[in-house]
Amino acid sequence: MSDESPAFLEDLSPERFMAEALKEARRAREAEEVPVGAVIVDVESGRVVARAHNQRELLKDPTAHAEILAITQAADYYKSWRLTDCVLYVTLEPCLMCAGAIVQARIPEVVYGAVDPKAGAHCSVFEVLANSSNNHFPRVQVWVMADERAELLRGVYRERRGGGGIRGESGSTNGSTG
Ligand SMILES: [Zn+2]
Repeated sequence: MSDESPAFLEDLSPERFMAEALKEARRAREAEEVPVGAVIVDVESGRVVARAHNQRELLKDPTAHAEILAITQAADYYKSWRLTDCVLYVTLEPCLMCAGAIVQARIPEVVYGAVDPKAGAHCSVFEVLANSSNNHFPRVQVWVMADERAELLRGVYRERRGGGGIRGESGSTNGSTG
């Protein structure tokens, strides 16, 4: 029982945290919200310090996106508005508001699961997260989880009565389910 480190490293893998973010997205969908989930992970400990899903309908609050709620929780955890020691995992490309909050919070790294051709603010509609003229801009990775991603996008497109192709992907996700 001496080799604990491989398991520990495995526990810090992006798959694991995207899976946690997807759990949150499912919670949003169960609550008939736009299915977006986010977690924030402390890089030192590998601990999830914030988890949230979109609650715009429940809270009747246009700012109640998963990322905003998670950022607020993480700021409470760190007792600081500067979230410089963590990674944000979110299932969908952040919107303009959330990208702004990510920049304001100085989050150094963002991993997201699907591009949002309607409202994404990393590379799709706006390029806030990739704008080097910001005083801070995070490292961004797109992390694709094939099955769940498609499932998630169907949820998004059902909600938005969608349309639009998925940038950079061949079309296995048409939005016309159910
Ligand atoms: Zn947002």
